[in-house]
Amino acid sequence: MSKLAINGAHALGNAANCRHLDWPPVSATTADKLKELYLSRAWSFNSQTEQDFEKAFAEHHGAKYAIFMSNGTVTLECALEALGIGPGDEVIVPALTWIATAMAVRYVGAKLVFADIAADTFTLSPAAVQAAITPRTKAIIPVHLYGSIADLEQLLALSKKHGLALIEDCAHMQGGQWQNRGVGSWGDIGSFSFQQSKTLASGEGGICLTNDALLAEKLYRCKHIGYSRYDKQGQAGTPPPPGLTCHNYRGTAFQALLLNEQLPELPQLLQKYQAFVDILQKNCRDIPGFRLQAPGRLASRQGYYALGMVFEGEQWERFSVTRIHEAIVAEGAVAISKTYGPVYRHLLFNLAPEDYTLPVGSCPVCEKLCERALVIMHYGLYYPETAQTLAAIIHKIWENREELKA
Ligand SMILES: *Cc1c(COP(=O)(O)O)cnc(C)c1O
Repeated sequence: MSKLAINGAHALGNAANCRHLDWPPVSATTADKLKELYLSRAWSFNSQTEQDFEKAFAEHHGAKYAIFMSNGTVTLECALEALGIGPGDEVIVPALTWIATAMAVRYVGAKLVFADIAADTFTLSPAAVQAAITPRTKAIIPVHLYGSIADLEQLLALSKKHGLALIEDCAHMQGGQWQNRGVGSWGDIGSFSFQQSKTLASGEGGICLTNDALLAEKLYRCKHIGYSRYDKQGQAGTPPPPGLTCHNYRGTAFQALLLNEQLPELPQLLQKYQAFVDILQKNCRDIPGFRLQAPGRLASRQGYYALGMVFEGEQWERFSVTRIHEAIVAEGAVAISKTYGPVYRHLLFNLAPEDYTLPVGSCPVCEKLCERALVIMHYGLYYPETAQTLAAIIHKIWENREELKA
C-alpha cells in the first residue's frame, strides 16, 4: 500500500489547511481612491501622490531620498548610470538572482561578472566577491534574495577597501531591516521593485533610495528625460550633467497610490510571514538533511519575497528536487516552486559567454543549491495552520522517501 499522494494515496493537505493569500491584494477603499485620482487628472509627472509615496518609503527604510520609477529593472540601470558606470567597467552580481540584476549591467554597457553565493543564505558570498575583484571592478550588486539579507557588513567593508560602489538590489526585501535600519539605505543606492508578485505590489513600479543628494538628483534626471525635480512641468531649468544618459522611466500616480495604501500594512504582513517561518523551522528541525534558508546574519527584521527550503544529504540526494517538488505538491502544499537557477543557465539569459565572466570552476555553491532547493512564495507564508500542514507533509515525505523511487 502506498502512503504518498504522488502514488495515489490520500493527500495530507486540502483547501482548508493549505491556503495562500490572494496576491496582489485588493480593497474597496483603494478602488474608490483610484477613481478619485483618475478624476483629479494628476496622473504622472511628479504628482503629489508619487511624492507622498517617495517620502513615506524613504522614511520607512531610513533613507534621505527616494526616486520613484516605472519598474525595478530601470532602477538598477539608473543606479549604475548615476554612479557613472559604463563601458570598460566591471560589475559583480550574484549567480543566483532574477536575470534583471544581470541585464541592468549590460544595459549600461559594463561587463557582467558573476560571483558565487553562500549556501546558508543564498546571497552573494563576500569571499567570492573578493576573488572576483580586478582593477576594472567598479561596483557590486548584492541581492537580498527570497528570505535573507546579503551580508551588508562584510560587503560594505569590501566595497570601502577597494573603492567600489555598492548597489543593494532589494526587489525581494521591502521593509527588511539590517541592524535596525532599512535595507536600501546602506549601500550607495538601494533599488526596489513593485512588480505585482512582490511584497508591495503596483503591477509595475520601482524606486531608488539614497542618502546622497547628488546621486538623488542624477537618479531623478535619469528617469525623467533629464529634467530636475525642481523644474516646472515641461520647462527645463538646468541641463543634466554631461554624459548622463537620461530616459523616460517615470512611474505613474496610480501605481504610487496602490503603494501608499499597502505600505502601512507591511510591518504586520512581515510579522505574519515571520511567524509562519518560525513554525516551519520548529516543526521540521528533526528532519535529517532538511533546512530553511538562513535569515540575514544581522537582520533585525527579515523581509520575505519567498523562503528557501533545502533538501540535502545522502538520503534526500537520491531523489531530484523536481521529484520532491512533485511529491509536496501532490500532498496539497501551495505556492511552492523551484529557484530561479543560476542566471547564466536561465532560458531568458541570452548573452554570449564572451559577454560575461564566470569564476574559474564556475559557481558550484549556487549550482548545487539550485539542485536541492525549493522556495515558498511570500503569499504562501501567511496562515499558521498551513505552516503546520507543510511541516507534516515534509515529515511524511521523509518517512516514506523510498516511495519517491520512480
Ligand atoms: C523583480 C526583480 C527585479 C526587477 O523588477 P521588475 O520590476 O520586474 O523590473 C530585480 N531584481 C530582482 C531580484 C527581482 O526579483
